[in-house]
Order: sequence, then structure tokens, then C-alpha cells
Amino acid sequence: MADCIFCRLINDPGSIAVYRDDDVALLDDINPQAPVHFLVLPRQHVETIAELDDHQLLGRIFQVAHRIARERGIAEGGYRLVFNQGPNAGQTVYHVHLHVLGGRQLTWPPG
Ligand code: 5GP
Ligand code: ZN
Repeated sequence: MADCIFCRLINDPGSIAVYRDDDVALLDDINPQAPVHFLVLPRQHVETIAELDDHQLLGRIFQVAHRIARERGIAEGGYRLVFNQGPNAGQTVYHVHLHVLGGRQLTWPPG
């Protein structure tokens, strides 16, 4: 997907993707909402979480999220995992991504 910002970032060998394997990539959010805020995404271009029905790939996304959360030191304190699905949820980039937020007390309910 040439016009997808996340496809460009994760597939460019010189990009800022901080982790990448065959299936999954990780980006630090450009506008972090918590001391730790990264995105875990499939390398395959899928627009929304509702359309992602590959259970193995979904499992990989969560597995990488938890592993990097441990590596970044937020596992013990706790962290939030968020998929924004569509406009009412505030989805702005239409390449599926799991937000991982931690490092501070997060409020609930979300805005
Ligand atoms: P959404 O609103 O779709 O759930 O989340 C999109 C996220 O992508 C936002 O948190 C936004 O800050 C982040 N983002 C948008 N453009 C870029 C970019 O070019 N690079 C990175 N690393 N993050 C981005
Ligand atoms: Zn994409």
C-alpha cells in the first residue's frame, strides 16, 4: 500500500521501526499519550481490527505487545491495550495497530 504511512514506515529498511519480524512490526508513537506509548501492527496491510480474522496473527500482535511491555519496564505497573475501530473510536490511521500505553496511572473511562 504505497499511500499508507504505516506500510511505508515498517517496510522501509532505513525506517524508525524499532522491532520487526516476518509478521509484526513495532513503532514508537509519534505523539505519545503516556511515558511509554508504542504501536504493534501486522506487516500485512489490513485497514481495521474488525477485518483482521487471522487468529494466529492476532495472537502474535498480543504476544509482541506483552514482550515489549516487559522489556520497557511497564509490565509490573500495568498498561493499556487499545484498538481504535473506526471514526467514533478515533481511528485516524487505517492500518491496524494495537496501542500499548503505560508508565503512568491511566484514567477510566477513556474520553
Ligand atoms: P489511531 O488514532 O488511528 O488509533 O492511532 C494512530 C496513531 O498513530 C496516533 O497515536 C498517532 O500519533 C500515530 N501516528 C500518526 N502518524 C504517525 C507517524 O508518522 N509515525 C508514528 N510513529 N506514529 C504516527
Ligand atoms: Zn498499511
